Amino acid sequence: MNLTNFRFETDSDGIATLTWDMPERSMNVITPEVMAELDQAIDKVASDEAIKGCVITSGKEAFSGGADLTMLQTLRDLYLGLVKEKGEEVAMQTFFDESRKLSLLYRKLETCGKPFAAAIHGVCLGGAFELALACQYRVVSDDASTRVGLPEVKVGLFPGAGGTQRVARLMQTGDALQMMFKGEQIKALPARNMGLVHAAVPRDQLVQNARDWLKANPQAKAPWDDPKFKLPSNKVYSPAGMQIWPPANAIYRRETNDNYPAARAILSAVYEGLQMPIDLGLRIESRYFAKILRSKEAASMIRSLFVSMQDLNKGARRPADVPPSKLKRVGVVGAGFMGAGIAYVSANAGLEVVLIDRDMEAAEKGKAYSHKLISDQIMKGRAKTADRDALLGRIKASADYADLKGCDLIVEAVFEDPKVKAEVITKVEAVVGPRTIFGSNTSTLPITGLASHSQRPKNFIGIHFFSPVEKMLLVEIIMARKTGKKALAMALDFVRAIRKTPIVVNDTRGFYANRCVGNYIREGHLMLMEGVPPAMIEAAGKQAGMPVGPLSLNDEVAVDLAWKVLKATKAQLGEGSVDPGQEKLLGEMVEKYGRLGRKNGKGFYDYPETGPKRLWPGLAELVSSHIPPEKVDMEELKHRLLVTQALEAARTYEEGVVTDPREADVGSIIGFGFAPYSGGTLSYIDNMGAAAFVKLCETLAKKHGERFKPNRMLKRMAKTGESFYGAAEKKAAA
Ligand code: NAD
Repeated sequence: MNLTNFRFETDSDGIATLTWDMPERSMNVITPEVMAELDQAIDKVASDEAIKGCVITSGKEAFSGGADLTMLQTLRDLYLGLVKEKGEEVAMQTFFDESRKLSLLYRKLETCGKPFAAAIHGVCLGGAFELALACQYRVVSDDASTRVGLPEVKVGLFPGAGGTQRVARLMQTGDALQMMFKGEQIKALPARNMGLVHAAVPRDQLVQNARDWLKANPQAKAPWDDPKFKLPSNKVYSPAGMQIWPPANAIYRRETNDNYPAARAILSAVYEGLQMPIDLGLRIESRYFAKILRSKEAASMIRSLFVSMQDLNKGARRPADVPPSKLKRVGVVGAGFMGAGIAYVSANAGLEVVLIDRDMEAAEKGKAYSHKLISDQIMKGRAKTADRDALLGRIKASADYADLKGCDLIVEAVFEDPKVKAEVITKVEAVVGPRTIFGSNTSTLPITGLASHSQRPKNFIGIHFFSPVEKMLLVEIIMARKTGKKALAMALDFVRAIRKTPIVVNDTRGFYANRCVGNYIREGHLMLMEGVPPAMIEAAGKQAGMPVGPLSLNDEVAVDLAWKVLKATKAQLGEGSVDPGQEKLLGEMVEKYGRLGRKNGKGFYDYPETGPKRLWPGLAELVSSHIPPEKVDMEELKHRLLVTQALEAARTYEEGVVTDPREADVGSIIGFGFAPYSGGTLSYIDNMGAAAFVKLCETLAKKHGERFKPNRMLKRMAKTGESFYGAAEKKAAA
């Protein structure tokens, strides 16, 4: 055998151990080389009479994260190339054969005549867990870091190396479908209780446990290879099966609105596969896999949610010539809603935090938020009391600006008032050193304007968080006119330290994310004023792939905030800058009816103390005309809700606010949940094609107004056939 990614040893009992340990990689991943070596190892185990069975384990801190997704991207490119060269049929056959290689390899392992056991510590996900599923025995360490699962659906794929067939033969069908739809990572004990693995043992007993099992079970076969095997939920066409499939279809529709072809493929592969013997089931799975792998949803989701996200997290936008910041101490000024969250995520990342507010009581209240969050983690078993003590020990609450001395970075989160911010900037700069970077978390004030109050505008930058800070992954970094590269590097290092994803944008009103999502909310308001039934507006938002409808979203961010922003926009940009329909609606909601959103229990929805929220019946009286539901064109509503956001993203791109399509896409998905299946705002346009998008905008503009008029850049792209990514790639290559 010629192995570089594995070590292979056999003990005196004839039990082999195959240790997966890829050189120069921190995590094992499945690559073509790994597959070739695993193939050799299987041949060795099967053919060597002295070997009774084989343990597969990892030489690293984790088992493996699964397949190298870029390998799958390459496969798609191979297909596209072959279509051009040799035609669809040859291309499809080659693609099918290539894309099922891993599945066949695992089946070969499972049926080679000798048993395999997977000994798993740390994460074991996707294709790696499918490898474990093909082993006759799976044992995991009971360590907190151990997690198994099939998260493929999160990047638009599904388990295509036997996962759908084996999981559905191990567990009740409903549970198997749930597990694959959600793509959750499952800890050791629940995995054992669900029947996904056979045992959970302390880490130091892991490999020995697997060896002992192999010694005791040299003839072991997969349960489904036993002729007497019975499906856990009985046959698909049986009274029991009929209890499962009708609701499974309904749940699939409810959860995905049929936007995710991969989720639909899971349903089909399990439904069809369970009616067949395992080998045919695997073949069915492969057919769906080949189809899904070629889908634009998978390609866009892999690009945005895996490749681009990784690039941004690794510092794609960081100036390479600035050495890594030695970030230790962060000052957070303003211990309100946002500041308290920023203090928590910073301290949680091991940074020392000075949390300042106007008086000690407010500062302590901000710190108490960290106490609450970490206590919740303890309750859920995700943290220990000692973690809480250490975390709170890193946060110093104070009302004295002098305590900010020695901070490497300040994040300002005081009231959204330019006067208050100006005062704070002066007070902070009076105590910190000349190298300290100042980041403002303002959501609406241009950073360049705030920087004019600074003595060191080079050190001044925007660091815009989203609420709730501890949950939202995106941070927008805003470059003011004079921001220097050291400030940018420090801001990016900070975002990396707190394990969030940054996008870097240029200074403008609303920056990037709020401009797009603001349009989504406005479109909902305008639909309401046209007389569209509110329930249909909300349903259209969700059916288009947004996490919540536009009216719900407005309730979450506060109706009075939308009203404030509208008034400020009108004051600064003049009469024509706001929509009179929206102005009337918000004015009445806030001024006349005191409906501020979820925060006062009264917004577009009512929030009764018990029971779920309900659309406020009073909305009917705010609107003069009502469109009968059967006259509403749902497809058009869905288009309006997505197009208004994508068009705004295209405008920010033309204006140079966003400069990289990857940032626009990633930012839109993790910042405001823009239809993830599309790959993000600009991928949405690229996938439709600029010409079709422009045509759609023009149709909507004619019917609904100027706000849908496409910008010049899009019109040019429609003529030339260019795409955002095509142009960016050309630029990078030049
Ligand atoms: P908040 O009112 O909850 O908190 C502001 C805090 O600043 C208060 O605790 C107040 O006492 C304190 N403060 C005021 N003046 C101060 C001073 N001179 N020195 C020290 N502390 C002072 O507001 P918030 O929602 O946390 O917003 C803070 C900032 O974050 C604003 O700029 C806002 O635009 C921005 N922001 C808010 C959100 C959001 O969803 N709320 C999202 C992104 C950004």
